[in-house]
Amino acid sequence: MSATQVPPDVIKLIDRRRRSFLWSGNKESSAAKCLVAWTNVCTTKVLGGLGIRDLGTQNICLLLNLIHRLHCAHSSAWAAWIRQRADIANMRCDNLGHHWVLLRSLLPLYQAITTVQIEDGCTTLFWTDVWNGDDALADRFPRLYSHCTRKDDTVQQAIASNLQGAFVNRLSPHAHQELQLLIGLIQQTTLSALPDKRLSPFSRSPDKLDTSTIYKLLKARGQPNDPASTFIWKNAAPPRVELFIWLLSKGRIQCRSNQFRKRVVDSPNCLVCGAPDESPEHIIFNCPIAVQFWNALGCRHLKTTIQIICIVFRSYPIALKNSTVPLSLYAAGNCGKEGTVSYSGTSTRA
Ligand SMILES: [Zn+2]
Repeated sequence: MSATQVPPDVIKLIDRRRRSFLWSGNKESSAAKCLVAWTNVCTTKVLGGLGIRDLGTQNICLLLNLIHRLHCAHSSAWAAWIRQRADIANMRCDNLGHHWVLLRSLLPLYQAITTVQIEDGCTTLFWTDVWNGDDALADRFPRLYSHCTRKDDTVQQAIASNLQGAFVNRLSPHAHQELQLLIGLIQQTTLSALPDKRLSPFSRSPDKLDTSTIYKLLKARGQPNDPASTFIWKNAAPPRVELFIWLLSKGRIQCRSNQFRKRVVDSPNCLVCGAPDESPEHIIFNCPIAVQFWNALGCRHLKTTIQIICIVFRSYPIALKNSTVPLSLYAAGNCGKEGTVSYSGTSTRA
């Protein structure tokens, strides 16, 4: 995965096996056993998912690291071999195959997470790399860029030609103004004989990126954090209980209303009290035995929806959060799983 782009069909096949193993422990499983959509399972925990790795995104992160090494690993023999055969600034090369074309498609993303400390200007694209200020010149001078006919020029080529012949014959008034500003910027730029230096806020070492942080950034895509994630995952409960609380927060535990929707059972009725809809809320809060359970714990006001349960528990003492609640939910979880309800030492077959 760190050397080539994995075909989407291969990722789909691997994900099918991973999904089956997660929900059934087997190589194959039916859709009815999958309690949560795979895209949500592969979302990070802070965003409300289960935190299973998204292979496609992970593949992209590892390939970004590969591109970074091509730019920065000056002592690497294989990187030097590539640099002799390809223009590393725009990653153009005619004979490195389909894999190289796929790798080149990630260049805009790589440019977005790196800046360049300009030296000789030979491996830096004039318009789309960030080498002067905080943004690319294509973004700073958009009208002039739209008139440009040599968008793949390096900084060295642009400065050597002083941008002569780089634009269409007639510029708009706005583009002409931007050209004057750009010429002034070029005149202030001095090149050296050293190679350009790539920098990134995600650098772990000079030639390695922190792919874990990039992965979280790509997965987040501006989404807000799930306020329940801290309660679900940052406690002393064992992983099995955390998984149950996560399913509960999604309303996807194996209650009869969910099973009825998937045509696993004939009726959504609660087999304990006969209520017409055995929803997650009913099992945890409203079934008479559940009510007695919470009352015994002194939590009478917990008759609320599962979606806000985590917010309610925030106001509870740490000791309660870390022990009683997960254990109580674990007990409730076993009710749904085993088909039995345990309370005060008694067990009732549901
Ligand atoms: Zn009931």
